[in-house]
Amino acid sequence: MGRRLTISFDLDGTLTSNRFVDSVWMEGLPELVSRRQGMVLSEARRVCLGAYEQEGPASIRWYQLSYWLDYFGLKDVDPAGLISRYASRVELYDDVLPVLGELQSQGFPLVLFSNAARHFLDVEVSRGGIAPFFVHMISVSDDWGMTKAEARAFLRLKHLAGGEVVHIGDHLDFDCLVPRSAGLQAYHIRRDEGPGAEGSLDNLREFVARVKGE
Ligand SMILES: [Mg+2]
Repeated sequence: MGRRLTISFDLDGTLTSNRFVDSVWMEGLPELVSRRQGMVLSEARRVCLGAYEQEGPASIRWYQLSYWLDYFGLKDVDPAGLISRYASRVELYDDVLPVLGELQSQGFPLVLFSNAARHFLDVEVSRGGIAPFFVHMISVSDDWGMTKAEARAFLRLKHLAGGEVVHIGDHLDFDCLVPRSAGLQAYHIRRDEGPGAEGSLDNLREFVARVKGE
């Protein structure tokens, strides 16, 4: 076996469903835009989605609510307040607590490695009660000023872990292909009906079996 393997987890769409984050981006922000700019909600939603898409998830701005509030002329809105409004919608997938508990009790150092901005990550970790499982909880966008679209994020993670790292997440590029390109082991998890690929795992139980098989 040799050195202990560090296990790294994406957050949104991997440990938590997207219900909470989607509420902020697809509901909360469009409602504010609708009111402020005097457009119907469906139109405001279209405007928001178009703007997000144009920026794209490889950009750090995609994750920064304060950037988007500024962009839509809503500088006076408190981002933390807007996020907190939807905190009750945070939901962990059923396999998360048992799997994190099992891996932790077997001595694997666990890391939370997410592109989510700090405010989002903190609310999800706190509502989900998952802080005690992790030795590091990293908001790649806020803490390191980069995103998982960049291989250097995973090189830095590997350096931080001081040894081998295996990462799992639901974004085919950012959680699987990019970390592999940086020399990490990585798995893609396909929750619900997101896009899959050959070798995608359906749940964290399958992931545990792979990790232990190595
Ligand atoms: Mg994700």
